[in-house]
Amino acid sequence: MKHFPRTESSIALACATIGLVVAARSPTFAQAPRFRVVEVAPNAFAAIAVPGGDAGSNSGFLITRRGVVVFDSHLTPAAADSLLAQVRARTSLPVRFLINSHFHGDHTHGNGAFPGDVEIISHATTRERLLSDTMPGLRLPTLTFLQRVEFFPTRDSSMIALFSGRGHTDGDVALYDPHRRLLYGGDLLFNRMIPVVRNAYLREWITTLQELHKLDAPTVIPGHGEPGGPEIIVELIEYLRWLTDAAAEATAARIPRDRFLQETRLPDRFRDWGGANRLAANLEKAYDDLASHP
Ligand SMILES: [Zn+2]
Repeated sequence: MKHFPRTESSIALACATIGLVVAARSPTFAQAPRFRVVEVAPNAFAAIAVPGGDAGSNSGFLITRRGVVVFDSHLTPAAADSLLAQVRARTSLPVRFLINSHFHGDHTHGNGAFPGDVEIISHATTRERLLSDTMPGLRLPTLTFLQRVEFFPTRDSSMIALFSGRGHTDGDVALYDPHRRLLYGGDLLFNRMIPVVRNAYLREWITTLQELHKLDAPTVIPGHGEPGGPEIIVELIEYLRWLTDAAAEATAARIPRDRFLQETRLPDRFRDWGGANRLAANLEKAYDDLASHP
């Protein structure tokens, strides 16, 4: 497990704490901490969401000589504004691109906070799904792709938005920096948390994660949870294997759905994961998928 310096975060949290103390007397100053910004590599940052806050998910931004590339826009325009303030505190270069890793609102509903000249880029299916999102002021992707897009390639720097197959949704894009050896996974990656699976392709997700693992990035930023290393990918593969194998065995043995849901227990190695309230939905989804496509 890789550890990152917490200096900035400590300051941010200290400020936030002071803010909350002030807020108790004056609601004008109410500002709950949204995220902690961590420099995961030189000029590459991750904003790690504070659980329960309006950031809703992790995001990232990378500063290049040609401008800034942002990965995901959080759950609210206010959280995206805070992220843009964090960018401005570090560079006067403009944000050039915002990547939407997938269509879920906790990664896209901040899009409207980005200036109109910022190109928003996503997988083509992500844009299609966002067409039916009723979030007021939502800005839709202005550029779409199917496989990969490379941003600002030079001899010593580049960033690649990659579609490696379906997984958490049908249009998940990761951002890979081969020089800084970083991988932003969006919701293809949850770190030590039961994942959200309502739009997922569980078995394909495993294959997609195996592809991401081959990139051999020592620094990995998940959509939810703390940044770390490739063990984040390995552990989620292990979880998805357990989930799909359990459901496949149950459906093959014609164990009724109710009994499967009641009797299936999470293995010990996943017991301390967050999001335990999502386990029932995970089991239902796995059973239904495996029952219809054994
Ligand atoms: Zn999601």
